[in-house]
Amino acid sequence: MSVDTTTHTAQPFTATVPGTARIGANRELKRAVEAYWAGRSDRAALEAVAVDLRATSRRGLTGTGIDSVPVNTFSYYDQVLDTAVMLGALPQRVEAISDPLDRYFAAARGSDDVTPLEMTKWFDTNYHYIVPEIGPDTAFTLDATRVLTELAEATADGVDGRPVVVGPITFLALSKAVDNAAAPLTRLDEVVPLYVDLLGRLAEAGAQWVQIDEPILVTDTVENLPALAESVYSTLSEARSRPSILVQTYFGDARESLGALGRTGVEAVGVDLVAGGVESVRSAGLGGKIVVAGVVDGRNVWRTDLDAALGVLESLRGSVGSLVVSTSCSTLHVPYTLAGEDGLDNTLRGWLAFASEKHAEVVALARAFANGRADQADVFDAAATALASRADDPRLHVDAVRARLTALTSADWTRSDSAARRTVQDAALNLPTLATTTIGSYPQTTDIRKARQALRTGTIDAAEYTHHMQAEIADVIALQEQVGLDVLVHGEPERNDMVQYFAEQLDGFFATVNGWVQSYGSRCVRPPILFGDVVRPAPMTVDWFAYAQSLASKPVKGMLTGPVTILAWSFVRDDQPLADTAKQVALAIRDETVDLEQSGAAIIQVDEPALRELLPLRAADRAAYLDWAVTAFRLSTAGVGDATQIHTHLCYSEFGEVIGAIADLDADVTSIEAARSHMEVLADLNGIGFANQVGPGVYDIHSPRVPAADEVTASLREALAAVPADRLWVNPDCGLKTRTTGEVTEALTNMVAAAHAVR
Ligand code: GLN
Ligand code: ZN
Repeated sequence: MSVDTTTHTAQPFTATVPGTARIGANRELKRAVEAYWAGRSDRAALEAVAVDLRATSRRGLTGTGIDSVPVNTFSYYDQVLDTAVMLGALPQRVEAISDPLDRYFAAARGSDDVTPLEMTKWFDTNYHYIVPEIGPDTAFTLDATRVLTELAEATADGVDGRPVVVGPITFLALSKAVDNAAAPLTRLDEVVPLYVDLLGRLAEAGAQWVQIDEPILVTDTVENLPALAESVYSTLSEARSRPSILVQTYFGDARESLGALGRTGVEAVGVDLVAGGVESVRSAGLGGKIVVAGVVDGRNVWRTDLDAALGVLESLRGSVGSLVVSTSCSTLHVPYTLAGEDGLDNTLRGWLAFASEKHAEVVALARAFANGRADQADVFDAAATALASRADDPRLHVDAVRARLTALTSADWTRSDSAARRTVQDAALNLPTLATTTIGSYPQTTDIRKARQALRTGTIDAAEYTHHMQAEIADVIALQEQVGLDVLVHGEPERNDMVQYFAEQLDGFFATVNGWVQSYGSRCVRPPILFGDVVRPAPMTVDWFAYAQSLASKPVKGMLTGPVTILAWSFVRDDQPLADTAKQVALAIRDETVDLEQSGAAIIQVDEPALRELLPLRAADRAAYLDWAVTAFRLSTAGVGDATQIHTHLCYSEFGEVIGAIADLDADVTSIEAARSHMEVLADLNGIGFANQVGPGVYDIHSPRVPAADEVTASLREALAAVPADRLWVNPDCGLKTRTTGEVTEALTNMVAAAHAVR
């Protein structure tokens, strides 16, 4: 039903979420798209799975009591890529693919003749979005097929869906200018009219509400955001025919823009009251607006203190028009449900809430807000009792760990001068210039996964499992020696995941059975829960390393995950500062480096791919973060002698803003993703006088495409133009676990050939 703006009355609702996961409670979508990609199933089968997942998701929400259901939150790969499709903003090189679904997947993952778009982290989460490319030739046109289809699907199901789209400011701010085009945000006046059209189409299709996501409004690194918000949302709210508009922010405090939105004609504003403050909302002049109050944390797993959350809601009474209860952001970022997590002890379970439990918390809060706490007394009391047990659980305060932290001084995170270390290491290692290596993982084959599964279910015992893994290690060592790499790795077959592997061996962590969350496309991760003080009961990697080194004539790198990445890819306790938790993890990793060194490791790599990811969204908060992050890394790597070469690895991000911190890590060798962003990072490193060794990725491992030797040579020469040969390493962009052995053998052969050609 279309609505005349002058007499616009918004249909009320009380409890919602900005979005939900779509991968499926048992990763049904992952299986379906991967089968489609592999040619094992057809489009109809894929679409049937998608339709089913959407229906299940809607039913879950309405069944819980959510009274406004987000739709179009489904995606075959990524919602930003979906928005690019909706706006006709895919690059020329994929337009040649006539089939829309294959074009979409080619943009996301590449194909035989198309390089994919870049991928990067969605704000400060571990979800990756596809970066749209906006060039001079980009001709925006509206394609509302998907959103209309999903709306119609909900309607047919008797659900009054609220379509969700990424907003124009966020879309353009996250896009990348290509071919010398102006900054994408300068194209707002071309894009906003398409949103006006979209609103008309949605109204015509019967939508009562639309949610337009503008998380960019919580950042302070894009100029003029409040003015842009005011102008865009004034225009959109003046659309002749439209649903009621909810502008949804999340991941922080949108304080500068809330007032601006208040001056527009939009009906509702969504705010994150977990990462953001209530004061910004009270003072924003939202007296005439519906405020969708995200008081339940959508991106961490802790059970909500319902009394505290109700207090926040009550404190907004009177300063906003009316209130709707919500999660702080889409529950895409947390696992589906606690049901089935049978390994959790009851105390720990009592502290947790996953997506479906959070949805129920939202509903309980909405009812308590409307009818008083007494209406939900049982639910509130149960939460209070469970959370009270957290305060005096002994696992949260281990005296030995606390004492070690207190005794730390800067000598514990300082190594000797890097040039001096270099001399000792060169003599010890005797590597060629342009040394070749890989980032750590080799293909996680079906055999490996089967062995892990068999160990879990008890079909094989630990000894048999070790045998399997050793055989894999032997294969990987043989492959590397055959290809002719200079520094080898054991291949990480025993690691289900680079964080979870460590979490499973450290006290203070708990691993879930089915707590999967989408990381990118079909890739899911199962973040461990860091709930207590961190203790390393025994060495975690030494036996695997020692076995690999015993088979190899070349040096094998010890492989560890750094403290910042372990935090970033876990759900972390919220009862103490992150910096303190990071130091605890750092000490555990440090002990491991010392043990590796003692068992003969001359090179140890401590990966920090998530260094950039935790960077605060606001500039003012960044220095403090980088300070503790760098300290934690150095603490974890400064326990070894000068002769031990410390490598680190960084990937998945724009490094510009953390470039100084990368230098401060003071690793002897830094391997860094560069192939997709064409070595821009080297110029940045030069800009700050970075003098340690560096291995910019010479080819992209995210795509199944095998790079030809001359392609790798070209990329290596590009690197050489920025960094002298005596500081340059040759390696892929990242670990090889998602590739096949065939792809890896061919690609590495070409990489080694390129290194030889250039040497
Ligand atoms: N060592 C890890 C691997 O090779 C690093 C992965 C990463 O950077 N994400 O898989
Ligand atoms: Zn990587």
